[in-house]
Amino acid sequence: MSATAEVMSGEFDQAAVVAEPLPPVVGGGAVDSGVEEEEGEQKSKGRGQIVLGRNVHTSCLAVTEPEANDEFTGDKEAYMASVLARYRKTLMERTKHHLGYPYNLDFDYGALAQLQHFSINNLGDPFIESNYGVHSRQFEVGVLDWFARLWEIEKTKYWGYITNCGTEGNLHGILVGREVFPEGILYASRESHYSVFKAARMYRMECVKVGTLVSGEIDCADFRANLQANKDKPAIINVNIGTTVKGAVDDLDLVIQTLEESGFTHDRFYIHCDGALFGLMMPFVKRAPKVSFKKPIGSVSVSGHKFVGCPMPCGVQITRMEHINALSRNVEYLASRDATIMGSRNGHAPIFLWYTLNRKGYKGFQKEVQKCLRNAHYLKDRLRGAGISAMLNELSSTVVFERPLDEEFVRMWQLACEGNIAHAVVMPNVTIEKLDVFLNELVEKRSGWYGEGRGEPPCVAGDLGSENCDCGLHK
Ligand SMILES: *Cc1c(COP(=O)(O)O)cnc(C)c1O
Repeated sequence: MSATAEVMSGEFDQAAVVAEPLPPVVGGGAVDSGVEEEEGEQKSKGRGQIVLGRNVHTSCLAVTEPEANDEFTGDKEAYMASVLARYRKTLMERTKHHLGYPYNLDFDYGALAQLQHFSINNLGDPFIESNYGVHSRQFEVGVLDWFARLWEIEKTKYWGYITNCGTEGNLHGILVGREVFPEGILYASRESHYSVFKAARMYRMECVKVGTLVSGEIDCADFRANLQANKDKPAIINVNIGTTVKGAVDDLDLVIQTLEESGFTHDRFYIHCDGALFGLMMPFVKRAPKVSFKKPIGSVSVSGHKFVGCPMPCGVQITRMEHINALSRNVEYLASRDATIMGSRNGHAPIFLWYTLNRKGYKGFQKEVQKCLRNAHYLKDRLRGAGISAMLNELSSTVVFERPLDEEFVRMWQLACEGNIAHAVVMPNVTIEKLDVFLNELVEKRSGWYGEGRGEPPCVAGDLGSENCDCGLHK
């Protein structure tokens, strides 16, 4: 036998991979019953069903092998071009009708198109030159310095990196907390993002879910009771700077005060601030509690594709230099230090962030935040004016309201829903005009959903407080 590897020459049978029947639709509540149902029947049944254990292949663009004469006929090129053109149209339409997720879709990075031709990778530590030369560390560190200034920590005192998303920031922040306090208990409010509980599972940490107020903020009375019950173990706390569903901001100062009053000295707790959503909005909101490393916090993270508006998921993670040494290992293969969660890191993302920070600057973000808060108030007021239950937290641009009855409408506007509530997140690309189109459509459709024997709107007093509820009982 020869020592060199052989290239497989067998035929690649596409049909063997593609010919899979569509998965049966799952009906109200029963997960994967395996029973096929009629389209219409499914529509009228429960909502937001998730098909577990089976991948849905209904809208798949198959990869097809090039024909032998493709290069000559150009058929394949033309086919791909038409697929992409159609896809672009879909994106434009879907972008226009988007309200439910906190992504700022308003940007123009045309100037960066020229960089598409490079495989930019910042693998390793942003502050240590690796042997791989096609990187954007100079941009990355510039962006990190900007955030360090925003969150008030000196250049020599912080460590950080540009992550793949807010989740990676949480995974990192909580890991640092765990490395500092291997025996620590993780505390997080029940309305924290699911990535926090994922981190607890991944790291096999003891995790205490703390109750919340109606606003969605952490309930510090419950937090205190839980601390009292676990005084012998250090505390690792996830503090929400804007929760995912209600946009609630945990009171950082009260969290710290509660820790101190419960006998936790600063060397017995670690706070990670999950600022995925509002990390970059809060600094510009008057009366908002300040996120600052002058306070006893360990790390802060923010998503780059949310308020900032990056065309690819990314995020920023900043922690204290003293903590990162507990976490990192040297890696000879990289000639760098391993302190990040991921290995290869998107080197394009830092350039997009750098570009937008330069363009907008502190003042630009301030203006956008003001606009978002104004428009969010407009949305909430008009909803309430139309007799629709709605809530808007003071520091937030996330408007929570009665879940629209029609799932088609929910999908059309890409609303995020949970139980009887839905939310719209007012980002810089959400203009008054767009809100008007949405509101008019909602009010018109809704008039057909309720009354005259068709049922009543749901009571959402439990979610939004009775003062924000417009159901038959509370209005
Ligand atoms: C969106 C969000 C995250 C996760 O961010 P990704 O960038 O989607 O991974 C974490 N926490 C909160 C509060 C969020 O809203």
